[in-house]
Amino acid sequence: MTSLTTNPRAVLCHYARDPDRRPHCTLTAEITLGRVALCGSCAAARSTLGKGMAAVPLPPGPAVDVLDWVAEAALAAGRACADLDAAVTRARSAGCSWARIAGRLGVTRQAAQQRYGHQRYRHQLPQRNEG
Ligand SMILES: [Zn+2]
Repeated sequence: MTSLTTNPRAVLCHYARDPDRRPHCTLTAEITLGRVALCGSCAAARSTLGKGMAAVPLPPGPAVDVLDWVAEAALAAGRACADLDAAVTRARSAGCSWARIAGRLGVTRQAAQQRYGHQRYRHQLPQRNEG
């Protein structure tokens, strides 16, 4: 079960992050099946296996604001990139080779060095713009 921090009472459907598989997901969870929260559309489409569990309705609350989700995801992505930059810089400072860092990143040594070798540029967190 996931709630958006910008709207702490809105509960995201388990399938909201899988638009290819569940294109008709309405994003806002309405029921829970154990620890899985589902919107009405995904609850109706659940497998016969899942239909053996009793659905527990969630209390009425605000709908997921998809643009709030966009903003939150962009912020999280910026933070993750900054975190990765810092981790690579610290690994280099600790004497780790580019080959070892690349192995952990799942890329070639050359790709890791090209991406992080000129470190000191900073990922910019998304700007707050209106309009
Ligand atoms: Zn859904």
